[in-house]
Amino acid sequence: MNPTTLPNPPIIPLRLVPDEDESMPEPEALHAPLAGEREVVIEIDRVSVRYGVTRVLDEVSFPIVRNGVTAIIGPSGCGKSTLLRTLNRMNDFQLRASVTGEVRFFGQNIYAPSVNPIRLRRHIGMVFQRSNPFAKSVFENVAFGLRLHGMATSPADLHERAQRALEQVGLWHEVKDRLHDSALTLSGGQQQRLCIARALAVDPRVLLLDEPASALDPVAGGRIEELFVTLKEKFTIVIVTHNLQQAGRCSDFTAFLHMGRLVEFASTEQLFSSPTCQETESYISGRFG
Ligand code: ADP
Repeated sequence: MNPTTLPNPPIIPLRLVPDEDESMPEPEALHAPLAGEREVVIEIDRVSVRYGVTRVLDEVSFPIVRNGVTAIIGPSGCGKSTLLRTLNRMNDFQLRASVTGEVRFFGQNIYAPSVNPIRLRRHIGMVFQRSNPFAKSVFENVAFGLRLHGMATSPADLHERAQRALEQVGLWHEVKDRLHDSALTLSGGQQQRLCIARALAVDPRVLLLDEPASALDPVAGGRIEELFVTLKEKFTIVIVTHNLQQAGRCSDFTAFLHMGRLVEFASTEQLFSSPTCQETESYISGRFG
């Protein structure tokens, strides 16, 4: 699929400015899959990133399709994590990083001065390569964002939302009797699923995952991959991975980056079976990277 041939996404007013947030559409309304068409949630439009004077991303454009898993692949250092961080303004924390171009979330440029990055990250959550639970209880980890954003109406509601998030990552039955134990007592795979639950608890539209399974053993990593199948029914997922088999197994769309440029964006099936660029063909057949 060529990004330039995609239909324009419908513009859904999504207010990210604090005092307009109440008028935001209900998450369920936004999550409902549209019949017969794939809606674009995020448009990455000519995005370039520099660290100081060094340009590491060069005019990258492609869409993120709703209720799909999009994998970003490419050799180490090609800019995958940098690109992922541009999608919820985590690059704001990188010293000397500057971003040009636009990232439009339901039509709204997330780099517009009116956008509140904290609220933005409620809608576009992120999970990192190394699980990083807070040194708090299992329950408090999941409740953290709910408290921060004032999303629970009562203690019972807080508990219900936290339970739902833990169920969504298949962790509830493993931890329901350990909710008040430190999260750091969980196994590596459980900690990573807890971090995903923490991100899901605030009901984001999009979940960004940076190599979420690479620090885990194959079984724990496999469980993370399996989650995508159910999670994408409700959420839109973007994953950075250096693992081509993983991208092939669990994504619907793939973007291949090389040296900061987008070489090819297509459905995963097409990109892996009949790539249009020679560079993609060489990369997926293991001739470089
Ligand atoms: P990938 O995820 O594909 O391995 P990254 O996005 O991490 O690539 O890095 C792309 C390039 O940007 C690399 O050359 C890396 O060294 C550089 N880089 C990443 N983060 C920073 C930073 N905070 N400051 C300066 N250079 C950085």
